Amino acid sequence: MALIVQKFGGTSVGTVERILGVAQKVKGFVDQGHEIVVVPSAMSGETNRLIGLARDISERPLPREMDVLLSTGEQVTIALLAMALNELGCPAKSYTGAQVCIRTDSAHTKARIQAIDDASMRIDLDLGYVVIVAGFQGMDDAGNITTLGRGGSDTTAVALAAALKADECQIYTDVDGVYTTDPRVVSSARRLDKVTFEEMLEMASLGSKVLQIRAVEFAGKYNVPLRVLSTFEDGPGTLITTEELDAMEQPIISGIAFSRDEAKLTLVGVPDVPGVAAKILAPVGHKNIEVDMIVQNVGVDQTTDFTFTVDRNDLDIAFEVLEGVSTALGAREVRQDAKICKVSVVGVGMRSHAGVATQMFETLAAEGINIQMISTSEIKISVVVDEKYLELAVRSLHTAFELSEKDVQKTA
Ligand code: ADP
Ligand code: ASP
Ligand code: MG
Repeated sequence: MALIVQKFGGTSVGTVERILGVAQKVKGFVDQGHEIVVVPSAMSGETNRLIGLARDISERPLPREMDVLLSTGEQVTIALLAMALNELGCPAKSYTGAQVCIRTDSAHTKARIQAIDDASMRIDLDLGYVVIVAGFQGMDDAGNITTLGRGGSDTTAVALAAALKADECQIYTDVDGVYTTDPRVVSSARRLDKVTFEEMLEMASLGSKVLQIRAVEFAGKYNVPLRVLSTFEDGPGTLITTEELDAMEQPIISGIAFSRDEAKLTLVGVPDVPGVAAKILAPVGHKNIEVDMIVQNVGVDQTTDFTFTVDRNDLDIAFEVLEGVSTALGAREVRQDAKICKVSVVGVGMRSHAGVATQMFETLAAEGINIQMISTSEIKISVVVDEKYLELAVRSLHTAFELSEKDVQKTA
């Protein structure tokens, strides 16, 4: 008998029929004697629909009110799933995040989980209930409803698994595991049996939406065994593991990640003196905006250009902040570009192999794709390119690094 936390994504609970299907699946595990905590997302499209309603009323809705609104999506699915399970004769109880004391900070729309009190869940589990907890939501110290950022149900599931010391956290979704890249963009992408936490963390943070980055962080930190599986077909899925593959098995590149949610800001002609980078970025940070890639040009005539990327949703606020900074620093102008994307190759094998960057840049050059920014770490190389090249860049890199099934069979 195991304690398993199972998260079902939006597509998996997208219709009443699918909710009934999830209930059958959960009941199957209960019948085998397992204790189950289920974390559903909102029905697919619902969170976007709610965001649309808010935007129809206000260009910049108050984040606190956004959270009150967005958290309703998951409240619908927990109740429907509990009803479905009870109909099948499987006792189940639904709870909102606040009801099971998922404490977060007060960063509305991107709150972080700080603590979970598992006492009430344990009582229900001991009494034989399936416990259903709304994903993506929590409550701050003042009792305000908070949400955890898009894709946040993954994080709820992993955090619950950590708090309950579950035997496994299973993320059920509409693909049967983690692939070498998004299989919707490259149809020959290959499912990975295993991926290291380190690589998964990079892939998630570089845009692979199959897992929310904080979910991977939590799982790594608290050693939660994590698996990505399909709701709709049986299979082993992908295990996220701390084990490194042995050197023979280890590919140089494990995957290609990309993100369309990027925007670039440039402060042109800022004084090239100590302290300027901090003066530019501190006010952006104060608005709780995360800065990603940063490039500062070599100074000419005592001035320099300073470019960085942010999430596209934060562009308007970041631009406003920069206009203030520009005036204060006496810069020439502020430029913005939302038509960019970031494409990254990821692999722990990169540590012991030279030449990955060259191969990446040559591949992009051969397709006539101009690179606007570059950043590297030990196990990844990211480039910013015009968004119109996104799919071409991902496909050509997937081919160049021989990531598809037929490439692997060829070398076996
Ligand atoms: P859910 O609603 O179940 O949380 P998501 O849409 O958030 O589902 O995540 C699953 C999607 O992630 C897949 O449909 C796929 O298009 C996308 N995806 C992006 N990168 C990858 C990858 N490397 N492997 C698998 N899926 C990926
Ligand atoms: N419903 C939320 C979203 O669409 C959370 C999630 O699905 O994980 O982002
Ligand atoms: Mg998701």
